[in-house]
Amino acid sequence: MSFKCRPFEVNSIFRKEVLAMSAYKVADAQGLIKLDAMENPYNWPEDLKLAWLSTLKDCPLNRYPDPTALELTQTIKRVYHINDQFDVMLGNGSDEIIQLLLMALPSNASVMAPAPGFVMYKQLSDCLGLNYLSIPLKADDFDLDLPAMLATIKQHQPSVIFLAYPNNPTGNLFTKSAMHEIITAAQGLVVIDEAYAPFADASFVDVLPEYDNLLVMRTVSKLGLAGLRLGYVIGRPEIIEQLNKIRLPYNINSLTQLSVNFALCNLEIFDQQTQKICQERSLMFNQLNTLTGITAYNSAANFILFKTPNNQATRIFLAIKQQGILIKDMSPQGGLLSDCLRVTIGKPEENKAFINALKNSL
Ligand SMILES: *Cc1c(COP(=O)(O)O)cnc(C)c1O
Repeated sequence: MSFKCRPFEVNSIFRKEVLAMSAYKVADAQGLIKLDAMENPYNWPEDLKLAWLSTLKDCPLNRYPDPTALELTQTIKRVYHINDQFDVMLGNGSDEIIQLLLMALPSNASVMAPAPGFVMYKQLSDCLGLNYLSIPLKADDFDLDLPAMLATIKQHQPSVIFLAYPNNPTGNLFTKSAMHEIITAAQGLVVIDEAYAPFADASFVDVLPEYDNLLVMRTVSKLGLAGLRLGYVIGRPEIIEQLNKIRLPYNINSLTQLSVNFALCNLEIFDQQTQKICQERSLMFNQLNTLTGITAYNSAANFILFKTPNNQATRIFLAIKQQGILIKDMSPQGGLLSDCLRVTIGKPEENKAFINALKNSL
């Protein structure tokens, strides 16, 4: 006896927004020098690793994690001097916080962000069927087009506005006064995404008391803990309370809670590493700008966006990859990124290898 399969149509099951999406692709970096994903290239000294391992040793893996991650949350508040009038919610990476925030919006809500910007804002908005409003940055300096943003706020009253500070993939800090004008004009929430705060020497955390509609979001990924997946958002308790309702109860696993807590209690190591990265960033910036045909853009993050000669970006990207180095080809995104590549700052020897490979590829 044989069972006949009933005709089954995947397209009839899933929402049209999901069917229309394409998955976020991560390039295979096996065997390559990895300068594509804004990771910190440095590891920990051996004695620090041993101390970390001993904190993990008695972790009760048979138990669910602390759903409030109380100890870690208190450490974050302490080391980053977050005022007690604000609450902190943790996410499985700041990507999850973006997702939670957007999931909490009404289905006809609008979301606004400058372009080019961090791809997950649009990806997650599209998935949820929200109205995503993408406002081009100014072509000459990648700063905010303030009149365009204010006009869009007036017309669509977005529920959420994302401003990455510094911006990814352009690396610049937007003009502060323009950001203040946007926060003032917005009826909805404004999320300042400070993923690159460790490299920027600039922050809106101190601005939080000035506005009711402001959230500051951060992550430990770019600092040097990308593998642990931990982001956090800081804001008024009334806002955080709502987000906490849709957060899955055990979203931060026990090993991440312990490990990030340990790391933040040893921040000196990251300060040394980020300082080295910032020194290498200025070396790399100068070297890029001495190459004919290359224009590097100023960056306050741990990566540099640079422009290549007309219609050469993908060819150059592939030629660099052929020489064993993976960076990021931004040119498929088009618009202001048409001829652009993005390189993450690595160790000095990795950066040298990259500059050499780029020279060979021009
Ligand atoms: C990398 C990045 C994030 C995501 O961080 P995770 O905590 O690793 O999810 C968020 N925003 C911006 C602007 C980023 O570049």
